[in-house]
Amino acid sequence: MAWTNYHGHCYYCDGKLEPEAYVEKALELDMPAIGFSSHCPFEGGHGWNMKMEELPDYLKEVEGLKQQYGDQIQIYTGLEMDYIPGVISNQSEHIKQANLDYTIGSIHYTGVFDDGRFCEIDGAHQKFLEGLHHIFDGDVKAMVSKYFELTREMLKDGIDVLGHLDKIKIQAEQGVLFSEFEDWYRIEVSKTLESIAEEKVILEVNTRGIYKKKSVETYPSKWILTLAKELDIDIMLNADAHHPEELNAVFTETASKLKKIGFKELKVLKNGEWVSLSFSERGVNWE
Ligand SMILES: [Zn+2]
Ligand SMILES: [Zn+2]
Repeated sequence: MAWTNYHGHCYYCDGKLEPEAYVEKALELDMPAIGFSSHCPFEGGHGWNMKMEELPDYLKEVEGLKQQYGDQIQIYTGLEMDYIPGVISNQSEHIKQANLDYTIGSIHYTGVFDDGRFCEIDGAHQKFLEGLHHIFDGDVKAMVSKYFELTREMLKDGIDVLGHLDKIKIQAEQGVLFSEFEDWYRIEVSKTLESIAEEKVILEVNTRGIYKKKSVETYPSKWILTLAKELDIDIMLNADAHHPEELNAVFTETASKLKKIGFKELKVLKNGEWVSLSFSERGVNWE
């Protein structure tokens, strides 16, 4: 039994340290595979996106690690893709040319301000409120619905994995702004789950909100995972690590919860292919 993690950020975007530090830590943890998924570069990307000119170096550096450590651990090159219609998507030319092993699609932006900046959903709450008032006229239901609408569009875009499906819940102010138990919110989530099932995209269970104390639950929440199980959606477990120490953070507890929901397998990228492996609280059955 061993853990894997395919959602990781290093110093090419907003993560800490060089990619090799993650490989070394993964070896220490006896992980048989890891993937790098820096925030994708695009013109006008915010500070935490990779810079366009650094993409070739990123690809080269991870490729070098594959050569160097290939006999000890499987290393995969990915990107965490943004989706902004007309600006950046999984189908953007520089992304297609990068020949990635996989992509995770995540919505971080829900609109554009007059000055060209994008409205962030997972940054500071103040920035979220700014977008809510300037772009959505204070209508939080419209803004959150837009987030899920963009998610559903992105699912048709060729991504392998859907990242942190309900991360926007961190902006809810414990139900003051909105709640994940309101009918309209539940309908948005249900429609999104149906699209995931239809497009056969892997749903990520992301632990970052828990260890960063932004959420008491994973992204997505347990009630959403319960619905996903009913729809036979494939899931994978990811830490969204921004530091090597986070590579398998909260995995044991989360695996135990996933078992209780009824999940029997986790998707992993193994020998270059997506496969389903049985798992326990100690990891996936890699051998
Ligand atoms: Zn993200
Ligand atoms: Zn991430």
